[in-house]
Amino acid sequence: MITVSNIKKSFGRHQVLKGIDLTVRKGDVVAILGPSGSGKTTLLRCLNYLEKPDEGSIAIGDFAVDCKRAGKKDIHRLRQKSAMVFQQYNLFKHKTALENVMEGLVVVKKLPKEEAKARSVELLQKVGLANKLDAYPSQLSGGQQQRVGIARALALNPEVILFDEPTSALDPELVGEVLAVIRKIAKEGITMIIVTHEMSFAQDVASHVVFMDEGVIVEEGKPNELFRDPKEERTKQFLKRIR
Ligand code: ADP
Repeated sequence: MITVSNIKKSFGRHQVLKGIDLTVRKGDVVAILGPSGSGKTTLLRCLNYLEKPDEGSIAIGDFAVDCKRAGKKDIHRLRQKSAMVFQQYNLFKHKTALENVMEGLVVVKKLPKEEAKARSVELLQKVGLANKLDAYPSQLSGGQQQRVGIARALALNPEVILFDEPTSALDPELVGEVLAVIRKIAKEGITMIIVTHEMSFAQDVASHVVFMDEGVIVEEGKPNELFRDPKEERTKQFLKRIR
């Protein structure tokens, strides 16, 4: 479903991704773990072409790009295959929750307004915000804003949802409600890649766990295997530190 081959990315002289290979199957929930600065967010942003990889190739569903040769049209098409949920929510501040979710349906998917509205109401219900349709981001808690962010990603009906540390900006008491929503949509079989520091969540929800350090994938596998019996020394040290 997703095949990433030999992705490399440098910022100036600093090579942040040193040749990443990753395969994700349809319906997988992949958790990407690793110390701060190991390149997790950069990898996610490359998948969505928010960062342009220097080399390598990315295939999502039936569409593949060679990053060295990709033109504007290729990038546009690849972007439509995924939706991103950001750490800082990135909602339009002057739009209501409903308008934030509708935006992609009207602008990107070109749905008629009434249809976009009905679908958006449905999605906001799904994330538990049926009573906040007309609220502006400033009137919502961080957890509620992030749930709007998730509804907005779902609205695009992407082949994969990319979550970039979706709970790291939240007060601890708000983390649970967002994880509960992610858990719920994971159960519906939507393919997801999640960069997270929430180890118990990763252990619980992920079907596959990837451990990154210094721009490479050090180890990957099923959560039970990787958490209980890590093979690589770097993985062992990381898991020891955070437990
Ligand atoms: P992680 O998500 O694992 O914490 P990141 O992918 O955010 O790691 O960052 C990896 C490295 O790349 C860090 O050293 C970071 O400072 C650097 N980096 C990320 N984005 C940029 C950028 N736009 N310009 C320069 N350096 C960057």
